[in-house]
Amino acid sequence: MSKKGNRVDVDGVSVSTDHYIGGERVASPTTFEDRSPLDWNWKLADIARGDANTADQAVAAAADAFPAWAALSAAARAEYLTRLAELIEANNDELAKVECLDMAMLEESLRLRVISRGARNFRAYGELAAAYEERAWESNNTRNTVMRMPAGPAVIITPWNAPFMLSTWKCAPALAAGNTVILKPAEWSPLSCSLLADLIDAAGFPPGVFNIVQGYGEDLGAALVADARVRRISFTGSPETAKHIGVSAAKNIVPFTAELGGKGPLLVFDDADLDAAAKKAAAQFDDSGQVCLAGTRLLVQNSIEDEFLEKFHAYTDQHVLGDSRDSATTISPVIHPDHLARIAGFVERARAAGDEIVCGGRVYKEGGLWYEPTLIQPQSNESEVVQNEVFGPVLTFQTFDDEAEAVALANSTPYGLSGIVYTSSAERAESVGRAIRAGTVWVNCFLVRDLTAPFGGFGISGIGREGGDFALDFHSELKTLQILEDSTG
Ligand code: NAD
Repeated sequence: MSKKGNRVDVDGVSVSTDHYIGGERVASPTTFEDRSPLDWNWKLADIARGDANTADQAVAAAADAFPAWAALSAAARAEYLTRLAELIEANNDELAKVECLDMAMLEESLRLRVISRGARNFRAYGELAAAYEERAWESNNTRNTVMRMPAGPAVIITPWNAPFMLSTWKCAPALAAGNTVILKPAEWSPLSCSLLADLIDAAGFPPGVFNIVQGYGEDLGAALVADARVRRISFTGSPETAKHIGVSAAKNIVPFTAELGGKGPLLVFDDADLDAAAKKAAAQFDDSGQVCLAGTRLLVQNSIEDEFLEKFHAYTDQHVLGDSRDSATTISPVIHPDHLARIAGFVERARAAGDEIVCGGRVYKEGGLWYEPTLIQPQSNESEVVQNEVFGPVLTFQTFDDEAEAVALANSTPYGLSGIVYTSSAERAESVGRAIRAGTVWVNCFLVRDLTAPFGGFGISGIGREGGDFALDFHSELKTLQILEDSTG
């Protein structure tokens, strides 16, 4: 990897602490601390803290680079994306190591699955954009052609969970469509995206095509989304932040997609493979529940309550809370002491309100950032812990009598990102799968993703859809060209 600019040694991996703007490493007069959730006393780096000037510089670089990048064919752009994918694959283990230290996702999972998904994002979007066929037809004595045109500089803002995978998922379609990009990763886990900047450099992207800036949302992020030169904003994070960004997008009349929080139901019917369902339910504690798509509301048919809970507890007891670098660990620490306090606050308020803490409900170890896998039986469906995203290892448990009640409960929160259903009935798989109001519903499986399928949320879980051609359309201006028949030679 490139060695330019201010760099720090992160457990044997050299990581730049600077921004990457216009093909150069750029420092800032101020920095912010980045610590490891594995050991909060371990300061990994002092990171350049961008501000409104940084935003201006990055948008200017992206705007300058836009015409030439947009003028390339999609196939030519795909060659850059493929080179980047190859470099990600070649640096897989370093990326996994650094992201594990920075946000505490399990290193093995990063090494075996998550980082390579980032490479796949670049390769797949390059190929998909190159394969696009303009639609052409004749009507009203004219020849009509519908085409995609690159939109302009795109700002991509990502959250701290799965920073590498989510950033690549959002940047790849923007670049493939011919937009230039300014990526701002979250301030709690910026390191893997800094390594990505080294790889962008090594892949030979023209300066300014792909810029990465670091800093806080309220200054750097807000300045980026308020800049009128920006023509697309793609955001993943919380609904509260989306409201702020949406105001800026509206002021400049800029298309905006938002992939936001979730409060997914996991429904288990009495005809389901109970063992598989209970195992998957206990797996919702993976990544310490810091997964937007997680099925955090367990909804189980009355007749199988006891049998399900027995199996669920048996699987939950197998979880190992530990160091994310250790392959025996299944539950990592959460990202930050503030986030741990937020999770604990949800549980304390639930306890105080009379909800039953069935298991867990405590910080695991004084001084560490682990929270025990927790199951709460709420007094009512209106309980805060049922209606709001905790984003930690906290699930709720409710029962239902029949399909109608199951669907009503599933659809009873303002969110609608995902749903999971366990049933052996083909009819029920269709009827319940269709009735759940969520962007993605999985039946008898979870997290199986086809990158060409639309991805996004109903309600406060999001605006717009990304994935496959949906993302490429979002990052393009769709245009109709009509030429009068026989009017040209
Ligand atoms: P967040 O909304 O606090 O921050 C997300 C990003 O927005 C960060 O980079 C932050 O710096 C930036 N930001 C904050 N204020 C801003 C502003 N005013 N203007 C511009 N940018 C601003 O979210 P988070 O805590 O980092 O992430 C957790 C949330 O993300 C959860 O709600 C989770 O469900 C959601 N999420 C959703 C998906 C999805 O695909 N739907 C995926 C992962 C996470």
